Amino acid sequence: MELIQNYINGEHVPASSNERVDLHDPATGQVYGHLMDSNIDDVDHAVRSAKNAFPIWSALTLHERADYLIAIAEEVSSRLDEFSKFESRDTGKPISLARSLDIPRSISNFNFFADHAKNFEFESNLNSKRSNNQIIKFPLGVVCCISPWNLPLYLFTWKIAPALVVGNTVVAKPSEVTPYTAYLLGDACSNVGLPPGVLNIIHGRGNTTGDLLVRNKSIKAISFTGGTETGRLIFKNASDSFKKLSLEMGGKNPAVIFDDCDYDRMLDTVVRSSFSNQGQICLCSSRILIEKTIYEQFKDDFCSKISELVIGDPLETETEFGAISSEQHFLKINSYIELARQEGASILTGGEIKKMDGRCTDGWFVKPTVIEDLDHSSRLNQEEIFGPVVTLQPFDSESDAVQLANDTDYGLSATIWTEDLEKGQRVSRSIEAGVIWINCWLLRDLRTPFGGIKNSGLGREGGDEAINFFTEQKNICVPA
Ligand code: NAD
Repeated sequence: MELIQNYINGEHVPASSNERVDLHDPATGQVYGHLMDSNIDDVDHAVRSAKNAFPIWSALTLHERADYLIAIAEEVSSRLDEFSKFESRDTGKPISLARSLDIPRSISNFNFFADHAKNFEFESNLNSKRSNNQIIKFPLGVVCCISPWNLPLYLFTWKIAPALVVGNTVVAKPSEVTPYTAYLLGDACSNVGLPPGVLNIIHGRGNTTGDLLVRNKSIKAISFTGGTETGRLIFKNASDSFKKLSLEMGGKNPAVIFDDCDYDRMLDTVVRSSFSNQGQICLCSSRILIEKTIYEQFKDDFCSKISELVIGDPLETETEFGAISSEQHFLKINSYIELARQEGASILTGGEIKKMDGRCTDGWFVKPTVIEDLDHSSRLNQEEIFGPVVTLQPFDSESDAVQLANDTDYGLSATIWTEDLEKGQRVSRSIEAGVIWINCWLLRDLRTPFGGIKNSGLGREGGDEAINFFTEQKNICVPA
């Protein structure tokens, strides 16, 4: 059995807590190890260590800090196979996805912010006849990053990299469901000589360790990615200490397909946008809205393409569709499929557990599922399922499509499929979401603002937005 330890002050240390959290391999359903549910002593230890490291780290030049980030990226890059294997084991995602998306993007996060921060204006001037104003941006101190289980290292590093490069020290908590690559990241930091206390990685459950971090008065900001209900709780619980908050939360993303789209390209991409990572990407399409004229054709072609997906052991290189990341989530997804049945919907494909052989017999596999004939107000069309379950709805007109797309509490992302780019632009401006892709999906430029509106998010990540979030600003004024 493996034991995941906290990484505090530059070393892996045992937790004071005696509360164990089991860690599972979703492909087999077996426990492979555990972590300790860090308590107040563990959190205090991590925060103290970050506080002690702050004066030295923030006094380095930006280029010196950036060099550390680049060294961490190189270290992770040299261990790509190892990181990919463990990311796949923790999440149940195909190893090919971990190797092509999760770990490369984690490496890019460090390299990107190392570079991007060098071009950021940390000091500027605003002068007039009456006054000369100098505006300076500076690190906050100790900040906290809390991340979810679906893209573990990818989202963990997306927060840590900008926080560190501008001079903050960090206490970071990965998801208790998928902590392994964060655990490995501690080693990577030690191997490149990152000064002790600059990055502290603490493990535990959300409502214990996470909550202690949120309420900690020495922590100046929380960058959180996870579910909307958790975000709401963090918003409330952080209010006593007026922390800066960045909340990236759930989605119910529409794919809006017009009959004038590039059909083959659309079909390939919508299969990917619906079922990548078993539909467990916050940006996945979960409501597919199709112009009535091509609805029947789309339905057949979509299900046929889905039947070609290779469902299998996540560690096999040819696998395209793996396991659901936890038993709790597996049960939740199945309960939505059951609800669809109760509501009299038609399940066009999937709708059941995928029985596997060999080592995966007891794993948590659900077939990619497509459902139609649900009322728009159905919980399946309104609530985030966050799994391989999509619903189909036909629409008559552009305005009908926009109305359906917007009729949800969420507003994270949308994809629009049309060869009429003016229409694409028009619809994009009308859809209430923070990230819109026309004729593509998950095409990311890390400089762009990333985040949701409505119940999907508060604040933006990426590029200058992340640097602004992790800094405070001051205006120094002298008479002209
Ligand atoms: P979650 O909200 O259960 O947990 C996320 C993190 O928050 C975990 O580390 C957890 O331990 C911690 N946490 C839980 N309760 C807490 C509390 N009371 N105080 C402090 N921390 C707490 O989410 P999840 O199930 O891990 O992830 C799935 C969700 O994440 C989905 O809703 C998905 O849409 C969302 N997500 C959003 C984005 C985005 O960019 N908007 C990206 C990925 C995932």
